[in-house]
Amino acid sequence: METTTILRGLAVLLLGLAGACADAAPREPNVVVVTLDGVRVQEIFGGMDAEIARAAGEEGEDAGQFDRYRGDSAAQRRERLMPFFWGTLMREHGWIAGNAALGSRVQLGNRMRFSYPGYAELLTGVPRDDSVTSNAAIQSPYPTVLEFVREQLRLPRARVAAFGSWDRFIGIPEHTRGSITVNAGFMPFVDSDPGIQRLDAIQAQARTWRHERFDAFTAAFALRYLERERPRLLYVGLGDTDEWAHAGRYIDTLEGLALADRFLQALWQWLQSQPDYRDNTVLVIATDHGRGRTVRDWSDHGPRVEGAQDVWLAMAGPGQARRGELRQAPELRQGQIAASIAALFGLDFRRMEPKAGAPVQETLRRP
Ligand SMILES: [Zn+2]
Repeated sequence: METTTILRGLAVLLLGLAGACADAAPREPNVVVVTLDGVRVQEIFGGMDAEIARAAGEEGEDAGQFDRYRGDSAAQRRERLMPFFWGTLMREHGWIAGNAALGSRVQLGNRMRFSYPGYAELLTGVPRDDSVTSNAAIQSPYPTVLEFVREQLRLPRARVAAFGSWDRFIGIPEHTRGSITVNAGFMPFVDSDPGIQRLDAIQAQARTWRHERFDAFTAAFALRYLERERPRLLYVGLGDTDEWAHAGRYIDTLEGLALADRFLQALWQWLQSQPDYRDNTVLVIATDHGRGRTVRDWSDHGPRVEGAQDVWLAMAGPGQARRGELRQAPELRQGQIAASIAALFGLDFRRMEPKAGAPVQETLRRP
């Protein structure tokens, strides 16, 4: 064989190998779940509610406080409130269910309509009215999808993590304590970065609520953790929106949602800037419960509050073919989210919990 022929053969072989490597090593998927506590379908799909704003008043130094969220249509108002979510995520990367006006509903299966039962249903796939009947600080009575994914993929503990503003998130994400990484409430967050150390030092001082730190801290810690530990599955539970709503402070409730939108933007932009996360990470965005439908009970929720069972669900990222609001779609349940998260990793959550709702993608797929 002549030297040139051998060289040509080698070149072809090497090119072939390079191509095979690029094809043969599909990157493993990642999922980030973000929940916004007690965010109503009314604000998500319609933006600021003018009637509630009017009742809240804006006199004296509060004059004009709602102006930036006003708009002629629901689409305009909601985009002013959540410009990244509506302007980018839902336009280019994903879908949202729950707008009843378009024939799409997402309903709670639990009858409690408050936080712990909502998160228990979301993370364990089944309404737990038999065992989760209060917001008491208990460990999850059943294994969660976070634990399931970690165990099935045999991941190190650091690669599945939950960050929460509410201190109940110390117990909510795991049935077996220590099976995943958890940072919630005012738990210290240990890190080498001086800026993060400073935030950690003041998180309990910059405090308004007994059981909940401000989302600004949770968001900063979660983003730092993502950068440092590269989790495959990250859960971030934000809570400002619910606290401000309970206090009846509508402008702050709206600002809480706007802050959550900026967090989603920072999160998404960071994910898309990283080779191990870009085009390979699905965002799941949901809530634990709705709230009352009227100007009199919008701040409230619970078993007797009509409207608190109406929730919504959004997913964005690779494999999510639909864009924007679902129309004339099958009704979805909160209990489908756990199996949906597992399915994004190619796992069947119902092998562990047969009563769990089916993955959303199966439900939405047309026969
Ligand atoms: Zn609440």
